[in-house]
Amino acid sequence: MLLSLIVPCYNEQEALPLFYSETTKVLQGMQCDYELLLINDGSSDNTLSIMKDLAAQDSHVLYFSFSRNFGKEAAMYAGFTNARGDYVAVMDADLQDPPSLLPQMVKILESGEYDSVATRRVDRTGEPPVRSWFAKRFYELINKISDADIVDGARDFRLMTRAMKDAVLSMSEYNRFSKGIFGWVGFKTYWMPYENVERVAGETKWSFWKLFKYAIDGIINFSQTPLSIASWFGMFMTGLSFLFLVLIVVRRLIWGDPVAGWASTICVIIFIGGLQLFCLGIIGQYLAKTYVEVKNRPHYIIADTNAGHAVKIR
Ligand code: UDP
Ligand code: MG
Repeated sequence: MLLSLIVPCYNEQEALPLFYSETTKVLQGMQCDYELLLINDGSSDNTLSIMKDLAAQDSHVLYFSFSRNFGKEAAMYAGFTNARGDYVAVMDADLQDPPSLLPQMVKILESGEYDSVATRRVDRTGEPPVRSWFAKRFYELINKISDADIVDGARDFRLMTRAMKDAVLSMSEYNRFSKGIFGWVGFKTYWMPYENVERVAGETKWSFWKLFKYAIDGIINFSQTPLSIASWFGMFMTGLSFLFLVLIVVRRLIWGDPVAGWASTICVIIFIGGLQLFCLGIIGQYLAKTYVEVKNRPHYIIADTNAGHAVKIR
């Protein structure tokens, strides 16, 4: 049995050596062959040279170095494309995904009952309260309006069979939202809760706004509800304006009102104008995503690797 570990790394020069030694310790205690796929996502620090050093001393290490920063989703995609294992796992380089869970995860898959073992944080301690609040609302919302089942607190850290990995790979969309993709492909998943762990070294790459944008992307990628909201708004306003029209005609016929109400007219015009721009914006978001998808650009470009079998552009 071959186990593939995919590790996206972006400016992880402090964390990577710690990750390597910790993970290797765990893997060597397990009775299986393994490969470590280190993906250098266009780091601007010494991450790549550390990877090369590790690869020189350990034949389990394969490195794939992107030509620029393509983002974690692209790094994961490159990992899935090039992983040869029977079981494949994704892990962060900062040891927030404890490698000590791996033996247990493999055991659960080996029992044959599940296709994937996913991890879920049971608490959000150490996180700014505003971020937690928005995260909670996001999960409530997206589960209501999309058909992908997205679990609150789910991390990208998961182990899956090759069948599931192939299913994930077959979803080759450019706008990738892994939490949604994992849910969308289905398969039987075992959820393993664990206590939140702080990053060992270096800094998080996620600012609040980056996360917020990521959440909006997730919604647009996995739900068409915002589009229907636009059409429902439109229908509602059309109905309302029709009623208004009748009201005004009747009022004119019965009471013969003179022209009045400049203020209310302006309010209505601004309101409708705003609403129209808002709905146009929603449509624009979907159109922009469609535009990017249609261009069919590669997800990633590998500039340097030590893996002979690497698919360099995909
Ligand atoms: N990462 C990446 N490309 C990016 C940003 C992050 O490959 O553009 C990697 C990063 O090196 C780490 C993982 O994704 O291994 C998770 O990032 P981070 O720890 O910053 O996120 P957090 O754990 O705070 O959500
Ligand atoms: Mg982290």
